[in-house]
Amino acid sequence: MNTEESKKLFKESGNCFPGGVNSPVRAFGSVGGTPVFIKKAEGSHIFDEDGNEYIDYVNSWGPCILGHAYKPVVEAVREACLSGLSYGAPTRRELELGKLITECIPSMEMMRMVSSGTEAVMSAIRAARGFTGRDKIIKFKGCYHGHSDGLLVKAGSGALTGSAPDSAGVPASYTKHTLLAGYNQEDTVEELFFQYPGEIAAVVVEPVAANMGLVAPKPGFLEFLRDITTRYGALLIFDEVITGFRMALGGAQEYYKVKPDLTTLGKIAGGGMPMGVYGGRKEIMEVVSPLGKVYQAGTLSGNPIATAAGIATVKALMERPDLYSSLEKKADTLVQTLKEVLPKAQVNQAGSLFSVFFAEHPVVDYESALKSDTRMYAKYFHYLLEHGIYTAPSQFEILFLSAAHTQEDLDETKRIMKEAAVNL
Ligand code: PMP
Repeated sequence: MNTEESKKLFKESGNCFPGGVNSPVRAFGSVGGTPVFIKKAEGSHIFDEDGNEYIDYVNSWGPCILGHAYKPVVEAVREACLSGLSYGAPTRRELELGKLITECIPSMEMMRMVSSGTEAVMSAIRAARGFTGRDKIIKFKGCYHGHSDGLLVKAGSGALTGSAPDSAGVPASYTKHTLLAGYNQEDTVEELFFQYPGEIAAVVVEPVAANMGLVAPKPGFLEFLRDITTRYGALLIFDEVITGFRMALGGAQEYYKVKPDLTTLGKIAGGGMPMGVYGGRKEIMEVVSPLGKVYQAGTLSGNPIATAAGIATVKALMERPDLYSSLEKKADTLVQTLKEVLPKAQVNQAGSLFSVFFAEHPVVDYESALKSDTRMYAKYFHYLLEHGIYTAPSQFEILFLSAAHTQEDLDETKRIMKEAAVNL
């Protein structure tokens, strides 16, 4: 496969952007080699600057659930653009999207729109602190909630494969209120509440951990979090930036039937445009300015183009109730193949989300995820890439399916997955 143009562009980008990229995982740091530069995407396929075509399982890290350049979304964006790109004033579209979100995720009674998942979680935590009058939060090792200072502690995703999991440039004092628990390890949460009763504002969790590879909540874990937060007067925040509109129309909270106090969204909620949302119980959200004393603002928040893409995406999802079972079936067939061809690897799945770990023992938390053989993953990844299958360039990310993946795509992917296993 010729990737000369990508190599040239990457070299030049190295002078312009740190590591040649605008988000670390894109640099292929943990798998080596040169990232391919994407020129365009359509349906389930992406095309690079050298004209190579790939079946895409990165899916812009989740937003494009309907497939790339899905016509009704593109049309909605085109139409919105003609009326101006941003006003910095309230619009009818924000209200329309907000109402659709509440319809799909009833626990989000009141919400605020922002421009990224990072902002959504950062702001939800500020609201939780403002509402409870408490400072401490519990986060889980290996869960990623964006790059705000207080949350860059044992964060997953790109931060997991970097040389240091905790970022330089974050003063220790900024993370002193961030308490760490183990995902799927109830006793670690209990200990923290025992140690700091009355001081914990919120527990923030990815209801399905998808930034240390895919780690599903063990049965009862989310119910346990609901129960313990209620008992101690803390809030439960589900970071559904990945799982929102992906596990089900109502997100992981619908899938697992556990209702959080606050929810954060991103990715699909903006249909591929920059968008984040945080929201929940009305009495909590009423602490946010200008109504309450928790300040939070944004020049481009509720942007007309992003809300147009979000509305078109959410409406399309609401019109296709069978979509989620169909995505899950697609995931099932790929998971089945992976289990067959990589009998020694661990394949984790929750709904349509899945990932393969080159690890000997079941991966159920951060510690077991870290035992994976990242070199083996790199080899497997590069075989797939060179044969037209674009997956995440990191052991600790997951695969995303879209409505656009066809049986032909899946058959070809399975064929290459088998070949890759033989060539490991
Ligand atoms: N929360 C979760 C669960 C995420 O996966 C991500 C990003 N992948 C974020 C928050 C941060 O979102 P963003 O990159 O839009 O800031």
